Amino acid sequence: MSEEKQETRGLVIVYTGHGKGKTTAALGMCIRAAGYKKKIKIIQFIKGTWKYGEMDGIKLLEPYVEMEQRGRGFVGIVDDKEDISTHIRAAGEALEYSREAMNSGKYDHLILDEINVAINLKLIKVEDVVQMIKEKPEKLHLILTGRDAPQEIIDIADLVTEMREIKHPFRKGILAQQGVDY
Ligand code: ATP
Ligand code: MG
Repeated sequence: MSEEKQETRGLVIVYTGHGKGKTTAALGMCIRAAGYKKKIKIIQFIKGTWKYGEMDGIKLLEPYVEMEQRGRGFVGIVDDKEDISTHIRAAGEALEYSREAMNSGKYDHLILDEINVAINLKLIKVEDVVQMIKEKPEKLHLILTGRDAPQEIIDIADLVTEMREIKHPFRKGILAQQGVDY
């Protein structure tokens, strides 16, 4: 056990790209890590992709996995009733909350779901995220998801996977499927 601890080298992991599977990959890692009784925290930055399937599924992995929704829902689309300043404040608070979780010593993995999208929407600054990554405790695995990861984050990450769309049923008019998309 102590030998295993010594070998832990916390990674900065990025799941990006326009194909499906980024959040799914992060959730898959939760199952693997929970199998070793590791503690995982998931914080979601942009609501709208966080479906009941994973919300309830994650509860089955308690107390090893915890998730929280921060941020104020859809940004800039039809049912967005919030002022942009509200989104900016919520995203800034989510980043601060993430930093506290990162430094709390309570977690082995920290997943920041859709954080790349929050950066691209200019709700949070890439420099602030880069700074946070640089302050990461050595043993913590930090996972960042969302399409169009900024180059600055790719540059300092250890593992970057781009999900590339080859086919998506949405193109044939097939709507989101329970247990697959949500
Ligand atoms: P998932 O949560 O399924 O792993 P993701 O995290 O890679 O997807 P997001 O950008 O967060 O992708 O989008 C989430 C939702 O959008 C999911 O319901 C997913 O099925 C759908 N989606 C993802 N990629 C595509 C695509 N290329 N075309 C259409 N819909 C997509
Ligand atoms: Mg996603």
